[in-house]
Amino acid sequence: MSIRPQSVARAKTINLGRLACTHLPPHGTLIDRMHPPLVLGLSVGLGAMAGLGLAAGGCAYAAMWPESRIFGDTLIAPQRPGELALTFDDGPNPAWTPRMLDVLASHNVQATFFILGNHAKAEPALVRRIVAAGHLIGNHSWSHQNLAIAPARRVQEELAWTSQTLEEISGAPIRYFRPPFGARRPEVLRVARWMGMTPVMWNAMTSDWKNPSADRIAAQLGRKIDRLERRGSAANIVLHDGSHLDMATDRAPSVAATGQLIARYKNSHRFVTVDAWG
Ligand SMILES: [Zn+2]
Repeated sequence: MSIRPQSVARAKTINLGRLACTHLPPHGTLIDRMHPPLVLGLSVGLGAMAGLGLAAGGCAYAAMWPESRIFGDTLIAPQRPGELALTFDDGPNPAWTPRMLDVLASHNVQATFFILGNHAKAEPALVRRIVAAGHLIGNHSWSHQNLAIAPARRVQEELAWTSQTLEEISGAPIRYFRPPFGARRPEVLRVARWMGMTPVMWNAMTSDWKNPSADRIAAQLGRKIDRLERRGSAANIVLHDGSHLDMATDRAPSVAATGQLIARYKNSHRFVTVDAWG
């Protein structure tokens, strides 16, 4: 199978497992709607991808769009309206993850933390605290590289180092993986599954990583949650307790927004961790 762009300018081809992508880079709509720090990743990534002939159009959709399954199946959310999974990426963050844990504990809500290996190595006690509180932890790569364009060996290292570190700290196998920026290619998903992990994407995200107000984050996510519910779907919600750019990035708005969302939905909805879904 190959994905053919509508126009092939400067076309080069890169093999992505069984898929071949050709070059089609109109920036814009797709990229604006994909993962946030991907703006950074893609500004780097698009240049690199364009150079590799992997960029944009069908390929960007396949590689980056959270709900695309072109490059392989991923866990997003089942048709179970009323179920919400809070997922937190890019931690642990010594300044803000403890506060996020306090908010979750105050409501007796469990969440899923997709952790960066290099942050876990620096903060093992914080990882243990997350696990001890009953939350699920998953692999979010070692250093948050764009794995859609990383060499195969690097993909394996990023995933293996992180799972090994998390398993050493937690004493339990790591069963879930979220690709940084949501960026993947078939090989990335294959490696994750070979390591015993289910790849996880999302269906509700806003730009909490840009540090807008808590009210705005909660309102935007609330609209998405309500829309998903009208479509009969559970919500897989992404927020950030950490950052791949700065270990102690201010996540006060994300912490406060989490409290607002739980308060709004806790009486009418059920908060689950992603292992409830497969
Ligand atoms: Zn991330």
